[in-house]
Amino acid sequence: MTDMKSLSTESYTPDWCPGCGNFMILSAIKKALIKLNIKERDVLIVSGIGCSSKLPQWINTFGYHGLHGRGLPVGTGAKIANKKLHVIVIGGDGDVYGEGMNHFIHALRKNINVTLLVHDNQIYGLTKGQISPTSIKGAKTKSTPLIGGLDDSINPLTLAVAQRASFIARGFAGDLVHLSDMIAEAIDFKGFAFVDIFQPCVTFNKLNTFDWFRSRVYDLQKKGYKPNDIGKAFKKSLELGNKIPIGVFFKEERQLYEDTHPILKTGTLVKQNIDNVSINKLLDELC
Ligand code: SF4
Repeated sequence: MTDMKSLSTESYTPDWCPGCGNFMILSAIKKALIKLNIKERDVLIVSGIGCSSKLPQWINTFGYHGLHGRGLPVGTGAKIANKKLHVIVIGGDGDVYGEGMNHFIHALRKNINVTLLVHDNQIYGLTKGQISPTSIKGAKTKSTPLIGGLDDSINPLTLAVAQRASFIARGFAGDLVHLSDMIAEAIDFKGFAFVDIFQPCVTFNKLNTFDWFRSRVYDLQKKGYKPNDIGKAFKKSLELGNKIPIGVFFKEERQLYEDTHPILKTGTLVKQNIDNVSINKLLDELC
């Protein structure tokens, strides 16, 4: 329990390193919610473990700071229980593409109406700089000090396209206006919406810096790209050289999981009448 006498304005200030890309993502989420006129009480932000996953502590919505890699099962479960909530799941590249990779793949194919924002800084920041699933091959980190990482990095956009996720996008924490607009579009989208966000870790990743990204990223939509062709989205997701696209790669509205399931489509679970349900009988059947 916090000692009330020790509370000060600093108690409500994120403890991320000065200049960390997480600050911009937090601002972008707030701007997006304000733009969509969504009240705090109608939002649940769920996270796993990592620097980014502290985010629910610094925003005045409902929040759940959970276990490493497990933001998606908690977030999708909450959405199924209460369809009226806007559920946003937060995680880092280690959290979602490492510990939580199985949940990521299965969430892509279920199409539950949840927004997934991945703070992708290509490093494990909270544990002080180990190689992560999206670190560039050859990156020298605290856990790969000799010749750098030997593994090819995971391409989360390509995985999402291969699974034909309903909304697939990439943002950059160094472009707040673009990022907040894209997060708003993702939250507003009816279906599972996934946004991978380049989020420089200014303390432990000296390779993928703000300047590194700024010199490479370009806005797909400004180039006239239309996100309605899965084949083109696949090709774009493979562009990771000197020019890296950001923006919406693909979107396609289709039937939601919660509108397909015979029980869920009759109404949100928390409002369903269970007066005639015998808990003892159910327990007997399960034992
Ligand atoms: Fe941000 Fe990196 Fe510091 Fe974590 S370690 S708060 S990701 S700059």
